Amino acid sequence: MTTPAVRIDGLAKRYGDTVAVDEVSFTVAAGELFGVLGPNGAGKTTTLECLEGLRSPDTGRLEVMGVDVERDPSAARDLLGVQLQVAGLPSTMRVAEAMRLFCAYRGVAPRGDLLERFGLAEKADAAYGALSGGQQRRLVLALALAHDPAVLILDEPTSGLDVPSRAELHAVLLELKAAGTTILLATHDMAEAESLCDRVAIVLRGRTVAVASPDELTSTGSGLSRVSVRSTQHSLAAVGEDLPGVQQRIADGEYTRWLSEDPATTVAAILDRLAEEGDELVDLRVERPSLEERFLELTRASDGVVGGNVREGVTT
Ligand code: ADP
Repeated sequence: MTTPAVRIDGLAKRYGDTVAVDEVSFTVAAGELFGVLGPNGAGKTTTLECLEGLRSPDTGRLEVMGVDVERDPSAARDLLGVQLQVAGLPSTMRVAEAMRLFCAYRGVAPRGDLLERFGLAEKADAAYGALSGGQQRRLVLALALAHDPAVLILDEPTSGLDVPSRAELHAVLLELKAAGTTILLATHDMAEAESLCDRVAIVLRGRTVAVASPDELTSTGSGLSRVSVRSTQHSLAAVGEDLPGVQQRIADGEYTRWLSEDPATTVAAILDRLAEEGDELVDLRVERPSLEERFLELTRASDGVVGGNVREGVTT
């Protein structure tokens, strides 16, 4: 069997009385873009910090490319590229200066090529604080890659970015993946995980409750489809769960939405109701469950299950 890029087995970590990580286990294969997915406070950052050697676990085994992080921390550190927090660089530091500093720390020659690759060559003399949010994220990514690490670790890489910068950063991550970089990414953004990740570990209250691809996760749930309707008079806004096939009414915006086990029947009933009300259909959508909906299902299941946990696969 080939050595995984990352192996985390039975990790637990407390801060005093707070259990930050209770039992987290997953492996990341070389070349994967792997997401650690969970709400705020789930234990994602603590898990990554244990892997980075910044915190020592209470129990559990952590390996990077087969190197034990506790036994050989400096070898493990050389294999990892860790993205700095955005506030981690002085705002007056110039872009090229930051790259020189990082390269010196990693013992490599300055990597002007990385500034070029991330569209920052023209900004080489600009102060970090004068860069846009998207440029700052690209710079911290470039710095993390200074020593060509085997595994790139990113903690909430797009939080706080506007939509175009987020999309741009996603494109950069997919390019890195296409070039063979293994990426371990913590996020609470389900849409981000669904569009980017090959596989995800879902972490709830310090425990891995599922490890699978987004497709596997969305197809192993309740199987309910989301039916969304927009009409000129919003006449269905008050219709709850009494439509045929409907299991649950879900959050509204412009659209009225339900989860249905039989979308064809639900859609037919919706069209009948609209006709009865003399309301005009503007848009009708039937979508399979998103990762976010599956995640909420898992959260509800885990709220009712004490001690539910998996190593690889999905529990419900
Ligand atoms: P996430 O990254 O998923 O938001 P964290 O790993 O940051 O989760 O936090 C997990 C839990 O551990 C939270 O309850 C958090 O408040 C707690 N925690 C994190 N860091 C510390 C710390 N240094 N001291 C005490 N509690 C902490």
